Amino acid sequence: MRIANLDGTAVITSVGGGFRLAEADGGSFGGDPDDAVARIPEIEAWMARARPTLDPALSMGALESQLLRLGPPVTRPRQIFAIGLNYRSHADETGMQVPDHPMIFTKFPSALAGPGASVVLPADTVDWEVELVAVIGRGGRDIARSDALACVAGFCVGQDLSERTLQMANSPAQFSLAKSHAAFAPIGPWLTTLDELPDPLDLSIECRLGSETLQSARTSQMIFDVSYQISYLSAVCELYVGDLVFTGTPDGVGFGRTPPRYLAAGDVLISVIEGLGTLRTPCV
Ligand code: ZN
Repeated sequence: MRIANLDGTAVITSVGGGFRLAEADGGSFGGDPDDAVARIPEIEAWMARARPTLDPALSMGALESQLLRLGPPVTRPRQIFAIGLNYRSHADETGMQVPDHPMIFTKFPSALAGPGASVVLPADTVDWEVELVAVIGRGGRDIARSDALACVAGFCVGQDLSERTLQMANSPAQFSLAKSHAAFAPIGPWLTTLDELPDPLDLSIECRLGSETLQSARTSQMIFDVSYQISYLSAVCELYVGDLVFTGTPDGVGFGRTPPRYLAAGDVLISVIEGLGTLRTPCV
């Protein structure tokens, strides 16, 4: 199942078409996208029973052509976790040591944005980091690694945009603030449940600028996989439905290059993950 946030209301979308959740089952689900994430098993059961008519105007292809109308699939996460240096190739390019334990920071929720949102560059040292984002569907504490994937409502594509000058302004580095400017956390284009993916832990992940590929890897190359991250986080923090986990970026970021390279006004950053869709992020 795929849940999009179209003009602020939940749409269940698919290749062939979709429907507005508020119009399903006599309105019993409401139309709030965050509520929909909490009720995926109920929605799936209703769909299997009721076989709703799908409107081609709400297909994935139709929604993809109007990304600006899509908001983030989760709008009110209580917590956004992110992990640094979670691909060996990325740790290497930054000259930093491969971590023995997950290196966790936060992106503050006010940085969330939809899949087509523009970002106003606050400085000339803003960098790209395409990331798989896991959305928590069942929260709790002390989640075992073997139960962790069952606690994931779905995945979406994310960008962990980063202002490197602010990040490096102090020693040690200041990750959370530097990654939380307005629209520095675009996610989408919709939430995809894991049963839609042939192998949810091995997806191609890519970031492009025009015809140039900046980052290209597979999510199976993570040092700490999604299950490990959820188990590790939940040993400290209670996880809540709708929480987001930015799971790290592969190599190819701008500040790892010689000379370093950053986003400029007029750039349109394209972020793609196999089976999940595309983000389009114009820089102004
Ligand atoms: Zn990151």
